[in-house]
Amino acid sequence: MQTLKELYKIGPGPSSSHTLAPARACRLYLESFPETVSVHAILYGSLSLTGKGHFTDKIIMDTFAPRKCTVDFKLDWEQPFPNGFTIDGYDAEGKLTGHWTVYSMGGGSILIVERPDLVIAQPYKEKTMGEIIEVCRNNHWSYVDYVFQNEDESLYSYLNQILTAMLDSVKRGLSASGVLPGRLGIERCAKNMYLKSKSIDNDIEEFKVRLMAYAYAASEENAGNGEVVTAPTLGACGILAAYLYMMYYDEGISRRKLINALAVGGLFGNVIKHNATISGAVGGCQAEIGAACCMTAAAAAYLNDLNLKQIEYAAEIAMEHHLGLTCDPVGGYVIIPCIERNAVGVLRAVDAMTLSKYLSKIKENVVNFDTVVRTMKYTGQKLPLELKETSLGGLAQEVVIKGVDRHA
Ligand code: SF4
Repeated sequence: MQTLKELYKIGPGPSSSHTLAPARACRLYLESFPETVSVHAILYGSLSLTGKGHFTDKIIMDTFAPRKCTVDFKLDWEQPFPNGFTIDGYDAEGKLTGHWTVYSMGGGSILIVERPDLVIAQPYKEKTMGEIIEVCRNNHWSYVDYVFQNEDESLYSYLNQILTAMLDSVKRGLSASGVLPGRLGIERCAKNMYLKSKSIDNDIEEFKVRLMAYAYAASEENAGNGEVVTAPTLGACGILAAYLYMMYYDEGISRRKLINALAVGGLFGNVIKHNATISGAVGGCQAEIGAACCMTAAAAAYLNDLNLKQIEYAAEIAMEHHLGLTCDPVGGYVIIPCIERNAVGVLRAVDAMTLSKYLSKIKENVVNFDTVVRTMKYTGQKLPLELKETSLGGLAQEVVIKGVDRHA
């Protein structure tokens, strides 16, 4: 399995597959072919259907600027991965500098067909949670020990930066106002939601509204093309960020503990990424919001001092109740239903942790984490194309917003 540095990445919203991954590929292209003066990119498959709403063409043009860059959209795409694009660059004489076919694999990860040598560190020998738990038991390790025993020593400072970026994304989102970019005309509401929470005199409701306001804050930053963190994707960036923000600013938990929580949550996200997918275009929203909920439930369980099995149980519950969740962003924008799903997702993560904490003392879990991950993969394969980030079906079809053409 890959390093957690490949799972958690800081980048501009609104979509890790549609903005972060293309920007990475374009930067790598320029490093490989610095003589490039003009570029022609073509977005295929799901990227061609939702690339406008997700600002993929803009990020490609911005990354290649000041070079001349044109971006076209084509539906036909006979490749093994649904999100893809090609880059053709030219030098000052008009000679092709290089042709790249890029797969955007989810969470900002890329595979360049012509450059498979651009590989990512794979420090983990174990591939499933069952194998990881066995290693932890044999060595009397926690999940935190397991991660830091496998990764190189730079991981701690990397996660420290990730934590800062996550907390900052919530903080910025709580003070921002105005209309989100795109033609849906949706107003930001994190700030008002947070202010509202202060006047609620019911402790449980106040807690929930405050936590949801934090999730809205990070998700609105994402939709506003702000800097957020893939956890595991940009579309699902608000769930873990909201929980860690509350733990840091409201509960006074130390940064060291929160960095450890990022390691634990990241480990569960990595197992999902390795054995199934974290891409909405491949597995639907269960792969994004569902995975983010698992990661947050595991992080919360760690911060609540639950043991190895209880943490696994919390993550399993979190995914089990997202199975089948479709990806159908209205107008191709990462706004409806995405932002609200982040708010509901963080509440579900807390519920999953709480259920595990008490249920595990009464009965043993029948479904383990690896089983639910396999089930998520299977369910994703069965979902129709219309419900996997193409904006061709579901809410994207039902919710008609005047003046919005998803392919324009
Ligand atoms: S519906 Fe879910 S998977 Fe699809 S773009 Fe929104 S957050 Fe991502």
